[in-house]
Amino acid sequence: MDTSARQKIPLNSLSPRQLMELDACTRCGECMKWCPIYAVDRSADLIPGNRIAALRKLLKSQHGIRARLAAGNRISKEEVERLIEVLYECTTCGQCHFVCPARIDTVELWEDLREAVVEAGLGPLPDQAEYLRVLKKYENPFKEPRENRGIWVQRGLEQGTLYRDLPLITESPQPVLFYLGCTASYNTEINLVAQWVANLMHYAGVRFGVLGNQENCCRGKLRRMGDGDFAAKAAENIDLLNSLGIDTLVTNCAGCFKTIFQDYPRIKKINFKVYHAIEYVDMLIRERRLQPVNLVPMKVTYHDPCHLGRHNGIYDAPRRVLQAVPGVEFVEMERIRQNSRCCGMGGGLKMGFPEIQTLASAERIREAERTGAEAVVTPCPTCFLGLQAGAARAESDISARHLMELVNISVFGR
Ligand code: SF4
Ligand code: SF4
Repeated sequence: MDTSARQKIPLNSLSPRQLMELDACTRCGECMKWCPIYAVDRSADLIPGNRIAALRKLLKSQHGIRARLAAGNRISKEEVERLIEVLYECTTCGQCHFVCPARIDTVELWEDLREAVVEAGLGPLPDQAEYLRVLKKYENPFKEPRENRGIWVQRGLEQGTLYRDLPLITESPQPVLFYLGCTASYNTEINLVAQWVANLMHYAGVRFGVLGNQENCCRGKLRRMGDGDFAAKAAENIDLLNSLGIDTLVTNCAGCFKTIFQDYPRIKKINFKVYHAIEYVDMLIRERRLQPVNLVPMKVTYHDPCHLGRHNGIYDAPRRVLQAVPGVEFVEMERIRQNSRCCGMGGGLKMGFPEIQTLASAERIREAERTGAEAVVTPCPTCFLGLQAGAARAESDISARHLMELVNISVFGR
């Protein structure tokens, strides 16, 4: 990473509104009270308001009148390096946006600034850059070969956890595509999550298929970490998905949902509706096509994934699903819905700061413990993994469970 103090961060990826937003911060300190990363790494540079102040200084000194008169900038190499570090020590969870009295759209700001930093050749951080290199080369972050992407179906049938075979949508066109994402495709534990969703959709009579080995990564992590290839890579994927003739796409992962539902249409028109699996299952239950009838006696609390909750307003569907499962005693945590504490898994933080991620998820686990629940459930495979890591870190007796498992048990009795 070239961190020359004279290296300019290009502003063309920031809109005039965003440039004005940098000046809108009054440094009231509200974001400091809520940021899940500052809560576990008490460096003042991480406070969103301070980060904005540092950016303002950097941009003024590199692009302002004084910089032109001085024919140079006044930011030290160390200041530039630190600013880039704190920009990437962030899950882009959006909590600072929701509590900010000036309503600064920080998620877009952080992502666009990352793009500017990458364009200047100053980011992302080395471990994050390696993650993106692998993602682009292998079409998944695990260095797995493409021909293994669809193996979860066979594995599920052999293990008896997937109850019926699934058609490949390219061979047998179906109106609904179930889009797995990388983690559910390759991670053997998260394979199960995909199988639970597939079992439920089959039971409800949904005509759906999968892409198998032809599925690509949604490429959302490129956008989250500011990689300038995101638009072109996303457009390739949009062309593939548009060519399938589907009317609906159901994602397994909250991150894929945000990418396909929110980011893709800004790049190119998509010709299908997009749902996260939990919204879809909620709809199937409300239409009485799915009936959770078997008791699941368990006291649980619910973790809102940032990409479903704060970023897309999906708060009620998962809670309705949870409450439709007989036997479940549902208790809320203190921080929920738009103030839900991030588990630390988003925005590429885990790739650059794995220790901070587990500390953040351990904090969420401690909140869950205070409810007296025996399990914290979530409908996002990534949060599920993050909360598991947090439970281990906190040496907690509470377990992290995926919401689809509870629905699967209640519908099928096993
Ligand atoms: S809450 Fe908003 S206005 Fe207040 S310090 Fe944070 S970013 Fe600035
Ligand atoms: S997006 Fe989340 S992690 Fe990043 S600064 Fe804001 S509150 Fe902190």
